[in-house]
Amino acid sequence: MSLDRVADCLFCRIVAGEIPSTKVHEDDVVLAIRDIAPRAPTHILLMPRRHVASAADLTPGDGDLLGRIFGTAADIARSEGIAGPGYRVVTNVGAWGGQTVDHLHFHLMGGRAFEWPPG
Ligand code: AMP
Ligand code: ZN
Repeated sequence: MSLDRVADCLFCRIVAGEIPSTKVHEDDVVLAIRDIAPRAPTHILLMPRRHVASAADLTPGDGDLLGRIFGTAADIARSEGIAGPGYRVVTNVGAWGGQTVDHLHFHLMGGRAFEWPPG
């Protein structure tokens, strides 16, 4: 599903400014905020402003959107000082993937080493 906005979506409400967040970056397409329960010294969520339920809903037409998100993630990684040693960008899909908020978002995590595969 890809709508501009879904009424009961937490991240749509954050994008609209109805729920407070700590913004790291905002433009016409992408919002980046600090995760409310960080699992790493740097833990930032990047999301499209418009509602996309998960990565399972992406199509080839979303290529520009993904370029904007990943380009922004790389910029933020540099400005947060985590680009040198490396970091992780991950998106969870569905219940078994660990997705708890059904608005596409990418976790940008750094400041410590991560294991592979994730738990
Ligand atoms: P996921 O479990 O992959 O769907 O990721 C959802 C993320 O959103 C989790 O890491 C939560 O800690 C985070 N989160 C939930 N509510 C908020 C909020 N109000 N502001 C910022 N991050 C949030
Ligand atoms: Zn949404």
